[in-house]
Amino acid sequence: MARVQLRNIEKVYGGSVKAVHGINLDIEDGEFMVFVGPSGCAKSTTLRMIAGLEDITGGEVIIGGQRVNDLPPGKRSIAMVFQNYALYPHMKVRGNLAFGLKIAGKSKPEIETAINDVARILEIEPLLDRLPKQLSGGQAQRVALGRALIKKPSVFLFDEPLSNLDAKLRASMRVRITDLHRRLKAEGLSSTVIYVTHDQTEAMTMGDRICVMQAGHIMQVATPKELYNHPANLFVAGFIGSPEMNLIDGHLQGGQFVIGNQRLTLGDEVLSRLASQPADGVLGVRPQHLVLDPNGLKARLTNAEFMGHEVYLHADLEGQKIIAVIGTAEYEQLGRADMIGLRPLAEHMHIFDKSDGSNVSLDRHRLAA
Ligand code: ADP
Ligand code: MG
Repeated sequence: MARVQLRNIEKVYGGSVKAVHGINLDIEDGEFMVFVGPSGCAKSTTLRMIAGLEDITGGEVIIGGQRVNDLPPGKRSIAMVFQNYALYPHMKVRGNLAFGLKIAGKSKPEIETAINDVARILEIEPLLDRLPKQLSGGQAQRVALGRALIKKPSVFLFDEPLSNLDAKLRASMRVRITDLHRRLKAEGLSSTVIYVTHDQTEAMTMGDRICVMQAGHIMQVATPKELYNHPANLFVAGFIGSPEMNLIDGHLQGGQFVIGNQRLTLGDEVLSRLASQPADGVLGVRPQHLVLDPNGLKARLTNAEFMGHEVYLHADLEGQKIIAVIGTAEYEQLGRADMIGLRPLAEHMHIFDKSDGSNVSLDRHRLAA
């Protein structure tokens, strides 16, 4: 069993810089958990405390039921893969894979079997007798994965392992890693993964659950679908999803959302979901959930980006920039319109309280179901 439990963990650097503010999180055995957030939010610091590469200022890290705060990295049954997958340059792939096992005093036949297993899983058999300089970026990263895998750890820790690869390779490595995780699980190997990235696409496509972080705090922990459909606050709403959710400032007044000189009547569907009606609010609606409607909010079209099967409309709504995604055919029907009408789909509207950023439009009944 390799459940990972973080109990109120804190990190203070140099006696004064508080980087992690009491994080509580349970990562289940076999789960693929992603830590995502902007640069500097303390993803790496948190991961390094789990790994044992960084002292824990406060709280407890528990791996497989055991408190590991005082255990060195080598005793935590973890393996880590970094962005800079420094392979030993003078050793062939085979030697790079064998290294950790040799240090651990494994026998030659044991090492041989382990190398063959890992090479088969990662499809790097033809590369075993090459030097790192004879590998492409993607191949080298697979060897780095192999070095982690061969240790048969209970927990894999990844810190932005794909950030140095080009976009195409990143996309294929994403699938390789999630496939690998699934296969290890199917073979009954405990393979809990904690994967750090700043890239919301990676987080959304890879994670069983995602922990969204900002400035050393957890903003929300949920499945990708849940984060996308029910962001708990403005930060998560703006961070998850591409193109970004429109976040439109306004005021709630008698069942209407007032944006400059325009009023949007919130129907019962929205009003019945509101936990409160903040005077200063933010209307959140994803670009896909704004539809063309002459009776909708009036916005001035400023730009249109043709994406193939859809078009991104950039518009100005009462001085606020918004984006709508519409079908190419619909766009062609618009002609040379300057002003357009856009209606947010009621069931996809969010209302946030501007004072604390919380989403006051989450349907608690539906969430509980
Ligand atoms: P992330 O991985 O999310 O980009 P980090 O965990 O690297 O963030 O950093 C979190 C915060 O801690 C940042 O403000 C960073 O400047 C600070 N920090 C990281 N490492 C150190 C260190 N060794 N000494 C002092 N401050 C640090
Ligand atoms: Mg980092």
